[in-house]
Formats: sequence, structure tokens, C-alpha cells
Amino acid sequence: MNQPAAYRDRQVIVLGMARSGVSVAKLFHKAGANVIVNDKKERELCPEAAELDALGISVICGYHPDDLVTEQTALLIKNPGIPYSALPVVQAEALGIPVITEVEAAYWISPAPIIGITGSNGKTTTTTIVGELLQAAGLSPIVAGNIGRPLCEAAAEANERQWVVAELSSFQLKGTKQFRPSIGALLNLAETHLDYHGGMDDYAASKAKLFANQTSGDVAVWNWDDELCRQLTASLPSRALPFSLYSVLEQGVYVNPPFLKGEQSDKEHFIVYRCASKQEEPFVLMPTSELGLPGRHNVANALAAIAICIAAGAEPAQLAEPLRVFKGVEHRLEYVREYNGVKFYNDSKATNPMATMMSVSSLQEPIVLIAGGLDRGSDYMELMPLFRDRLKGLVVLGETGEKLAAVAKQAGLTKVEIVEPVEDAEAVLRQATLQAAALAEPGDAVLLSPACASWDMFDSFEQRGSIFKKSAHTL
Ligand code: ADP
Repeated sequence: MNQPAAYRDRQVIVLGMARSGVSVAKLFHKAGANVIVNDKKERELCPEAAELDALGISVICGYHPDDLVTEQTALLIKNPGIPYSALPVVQAEALGIPVITEVEAAYWISPAPIIGITGSNGKTTTTTIVGELLQAAGLSPIVAGNIGRPLCEAAAEANERQWVVAELSSFQLKGTKQFRPSIGALLNLAETHLDYHGGMDDYAASKAKLFANQTSGDVAVWNWDDELCRQLTASLPSRALPFSLYSVLEQGVYVNPPFLKGEQSDKEHFIVYRCASKQEEPFVLMPTSELGLPGRHNVANALAAIAICIAAGAEPAQLAEPLRVFKGVEHRLEYVREYNGVKFYNDSKATNPMATMMSVSSLQEPIVLIAGGLDRGSDYMELMPLFRDRLKGLVVLGETGEKLAAVAKQAGLTKVEIVEPVEDAEAVLRQATLQAAALAEPGDAVLLSPACASWDMFDSFEQRGSIFKKSAHTL
């Protein structure tokens, strides 16, 4: 395996500072490499620069110098968000210099086996559940990656008896070469981030890199119900442990009796693990109704987490209790309060239509939806059936507000309101909350699930969700 020590006295460029950039820069500096960290942001916006300076690492802020990458450069480690069209990346690729993300370097150094979790939606929730379950099973997880702390930091701290549990984005995976998680999990694939990837092929190929280096000793967990996931995992050498809401599996984790697509159910459904090789009776873990998390998509996340933890060595019987207790992650279909008989839910993290579809279909109540945000060029027509069948009203805001309102009107929805844009984003969302509350009646739910990223008006989905919660609490 490659190691940072192989770059002693050689030039390593870290592109993009952030926490993961700092962590990987320190790693290579410690290994004796000549590290240069470069960020396009002005120095005042890079609070991490001082720490790197103090260590004697060269820091260049404010621009990408034309001559940053030369034939002397041995390796370029880029922040996952930096596009492949950025000048230093283009130059490195033209010179045949390896371009990686911090995840690859973390793999090089990790003494602990890695669990890699990816998918278009549900990564943070599933990664968090896996952390909780492994902890309860006494298997010492360290949770990192796209969630919380940089993977390099976790890998440097881990020992071989632990598990590094990594939430991985397609951006991170695209920059991997040898990365080989002992357990890889692909939750689902929807059209998202196509602006970065330039199309679905590159996006799916980046996700598939999760399994690219796995061998027969490794485990691939994937969503049996997702056609694209099935295609991508069709001929892997690793042991398959799929999960399914809708089919009884010969091997894997599934719901029995299976759910019926598009239908709510009053029946009792059970989560079952079946291990084909042991010829054992399927093991019944618990009824789905006892999961602490609401929503069918969260049943899928729980199934994935169970499969991962069983593959990591947890006893199935140890998993039910922590799944009863775990109530979810903030801003993901988070129950806020009840006011005048109306329940308020914050799902600000739903930044694409698939996520919104899942949350809307999860709630039993008639829904007044608050949606809209950054416009990435989608027409949102896929939301039409959902708007027609599940919504009582729609309140829209942000760049995509008009488009979403048009889809709702085409769907025949009559209660559609567009919030007037004003400078103050908080005032707009507060107004949206008031309008949604006015459209709702006792027994209904008001759901913020925007189907769009937040950056047209807010700093982050967290800020958007917090403003919504405050607005709901102060009606
Ligand atoms: P990610 O980290 O992939 O963005 P999160 O766990 O943060 O995923 O959930 C984000 C949103 O995606 C949730 O608020 C919910 O609306 C939706 N979601 C969560 N899990 C799933 C799933 N398994 N399938 C589809 N949508 C999901």
C-alpha cells in the first residue's frame, strides 16, 4: 500500500484548506513531505492558515498560482468540492501527477478496517446509526468522513481492533485510487450533483468506486430495491449483503412481510436477517413499528445499518434495543412541535427531490409542504404525482419557488402560495411558516422539505432548519 512516508522530501500540494485539508497537510508534513497548501479564498477567510504557518507548512491564499503545479509535484490532494476544471487539477492531470482526495490518504494510513457508506440520500442518518449500533455491540467505532471530523484524523487515531465508519460523498470517492473499505454500503442512487459530475454516468461511476478494489474477503451492502444499485453491484467479487423493503431475500436484511410500493400499511412488518451460507432459520430482529425513527426511508436506512453491523461482527440480537432508542439526526424529518393540532416537521436536509419524496410519503397526515431553494436547473416534474396525491397545500420560496408552484398547479393543487422575496432570508422563511400554518387544519402536518439546496438564501441547510424551528416555536 502507498504511504505518506513515500513522499518524504517530495512536493505534495493540498488544494483547499477546510478541516480535511488541514488534517491531510499535517499528515504529509509529519511524514517529511514538502507540503504546499493552496486555497482560492482570501487569507482572512482561512482561519486554519495560522496553524499551518506555525508548523512551517507553506500556505498560499487568495488565488491558484499559474506555476503551482510543476514536474516537481509528486501528489495533489484536492478538497472534494473543488471541480476537476480548476487550473491546478487540470495541470496535474496533464502532467500525469496523481490527484486524490483525503479519503484515499486516510485509507493508506488506517490500521483499522474501514466501513464506507455512500448513496444519494440517507448517508448521515445511516452512518450515525451504524456508529450507535457498533458502540452498543462493543465494537468501538470511530465515525468520520463527510460527517463531523476528517477521515485522516480518525484513521490516524484508530487501532486495528476498531472500525472507522466513513460517510462518503461522490466527490470524495471520485478522488480515490486504491481505497478499499472492508465493508462498503451503497444506499440508493438518484440524479443529484450532476452539475459537478457533468452527468449521471460520472456520478454513478464515482459511487461505484466504493467497491472497485474490494476482494472476496470484503462485504458489499446495497439496496436491492434500487435498480441502479443492482446494476452497479451486479458482478462484484465481494460478499453481497443486500437489503430490501419490498422483497424477501435469500441472503441479506429485509422486511417481512414486505412493504407494498406506494402504499401505507397497517400490518405488522418485521425486520429479518437471513444468512444463506449458514443454512440457518432467518433471524427476526424486531417489528418495524418499534424503530425510533419515523418514515419508510428510515426503515431502509436501518436495514442498511443492520447489514453493515452484522458484517462487522455484531450479533443481530444486540441491534434491536439501540434501534428503538435512536430518534434520528437534526434537520432530517425532525419532529418540531404541535400547535393548534398541527404537527411541524423540519426536513431541511432534503436538498433534492428524491429526499423530499421520501419524507412526504413517510408522513401519514395531510401535508402542507414548504419547499424551494437553490436553482440547479431541474424542472421538478417528478414531484407532480406526489403533489397531486399527498399534498394539501404548498408554500414556496427561493429561486425555484415559481417552478415548484407551476408543477403544483399542473398537479391540480389549489392551495399554492409563493412567498414574496425580501432581502432578509429569516423573514421570508418565517413568513412561509406562518402561511403554511394558516393553510393547515388540526390533524395536518406542516413539513419543511425543500427539495433544493439552501445556498440561494441561507448559509447552510442547518441555518435554514434552525430558522424554521424557531419560526414554528414562535407562532
Ligand atoms: P445525506 O447525508 O445522504 O444527505 P441524510 O441522512 O442527511 O442523508 O438525510 C437527508 C434527507 O434525505 C432526509 O432529510 C430525508 O428527507 C432523505 N432521506 C434520508 N434517508 C433516505 C433514504 N434512505 N432514501 C431516500 N431519502 C432519504
